Amino acid sequence: MSTLYIIATPIGNLADITFRAVETLKKCDIIACEDTRTSSVLLNHFQIEKPTFSFHQHNEHKKVEHLLNLLDGGQNVGIISDAGTPGISDPGFLAVRAAHQNGHTVIPVPGPDAATTAVVASGLPCDRFVFEGFLPPKKGRETRIRQIADSELTSVVYESPHKILRFLEKLHQFCGDDRWVCIARELTKKFEEIDRAKLSDILERWKPRGTIKGEIVVVIAGKNYDE
Ligand code: SAM
Repeated sequence: MSTLYIIATPIGNLADITFRAVETLKKCDIIACEDTRTSSVLLNHFQIEKPTFSFHQHNEHKKVEHLLNLLDGGQNVGIISDAGTPGISDPGFLAVRAAHQNGHTVIPVPGPDAATTAVVASGLPCDRFVFEGFLPPKKGRETRIRQIADSELTSVVYESPHKILRFLEKLHQFCGDDRWVCIARELTKKFEEIDRAKLSDILERWKPRGTIKGEIVVVIAGKNYDE
């Protein structure tokens, strides 16, 4: 029986890596990386010299078999994604499920994820929240936005910078002016920005900005929330 380590890595600021993540990466026999080139920056920074192989959303099904063969052959495997926690809007779930199903030990090494970081920084209720991840690009997108608008709980959405304005406008259509929203952009990085206001004010501030860059999490308060 071998071990699959699910290792969280920083979402921007390399100083956010945990001691245990570095220690664990150093003791794995091999590391499954979402993108081996992206991860080589992190691994080199922490002087971790281990063999890697790619494990991303387009080869995940095929590579699970390879990963299982490694575990079955007695190797301890680490899995990391480009940023944050594997399995959270990133590959990981299939590998973890397969490891469990085949009697291997699964050890999580927790660390940052953008959703939790954003929700705690939003100052919106975080005792209960719904992690929506990325919304579907087309089919079902509007239904999900309606559900978010109708939810009594805080919702957390990952959105790409080029779609953020369209998303906010659609949200405005279903939520109206007074819904509390927080945009968390470039968390933990040099140009980190946390903008929290009612939706009408957020739109007023973000619409004139033109091209928006960086990584974004949107936190949307539940429909009955006010302050
Ligand atoms: N596994 C990651 C995690 O644990 O959060 C999420 C990976 S997902 C492919 C990438 C998305 O996460 C981005 O499009 C953005 O919505 C969000 N994200 C990741 N890093 C971020 C950051 N530093 N600031 C804001 N959002 C971030």
